[in-house]
Amino acid sequence: MSETHELQALFGGTFDPIHNGHLTVGQELAAQIGVKEIILLPNNVPPHRPQPEASPEQRLKMVSLAIAGNPLFRLDCREMARTIPSWTIDTLEDIRAEKGPEQSLGFIIGQDSLLSLPHWHRWQELLNYCHLLVCKRPGYANQMETPALQNWLDTHLTRDIAHLHNTPAGTVFLADTPLVEISASDIRQRRHAGLSCADLLPAQVIKWIDSQGLYLA
Ligand code: ATP
Repeated sequence: MSETHELQALFGGTFDPIHNGHLTVGQELAAQIGVKEIILLPNNVPPHRPQPEASPEQRLKMVSLAIAGNPLFRLDCREMARTIPSWTIDTLEDIRAEKGPEQSLGFIIGQDSLLSLPHWHRWQELLNYCHLLVCKRPGYANQMETPALQNWLDTHLTRDIAHLHNTPAGTVFLADTPLVEISASDIRQRRHAGLSCADLLPAQVIKWIDSQGLYLA
């Protein structure tokens, strides 16, 4: 049998702010498939797209605070460090070049991101670089938008956890993670409306957001 390369999980997002939805599904997924570390990759949003409310520095700070003392998560600032916004495929190319062709990589997304995947830059190449690890999310369809896209998904699905660890890339795994009804946009709206966000994100992040007066204007 060939040597195995334990699955390395990556989790990209705007994290405006990071919240308990990200943390809970990440933790549950890791427990389910036996992942020891999840690398969080806050993204650099292209100027033509709606900008996050928090600055890049503030989004990084919130991620750092959220994962402080939690050995499952690690922050990777590479997307923010680039002078030009990068697509996920560029980041995956980068990480693949660093880790070599044998390393198994899993990119974590929510069900909403799976449905919008066909809008991602060079989306059909993503599976050349990683597996997609899809977490459930309440309120989103289970089926892809068109029969052709559903067929693409069906063709790439795996339920085999060992396969995720033993092959570098190429499949989609629909994880049995809990439905967590939390979104960053809801948190921002609640802040704007002066509503409490207790239990939606870690206490240390709420405290820091308060200290900055973030998401109030
Ligand atoms: P917004 O509400 O502003 O769109 P968001 O809550 O979706 O933000 P992002 O940082 O954009 O947060 O999400 C990063 C990734 O995490 C995406 O793939 C998204 O699908 C996933 N994700 C976010 N929240 C959840 C959740 N509650 N359950 C499962 N996946 C989630």
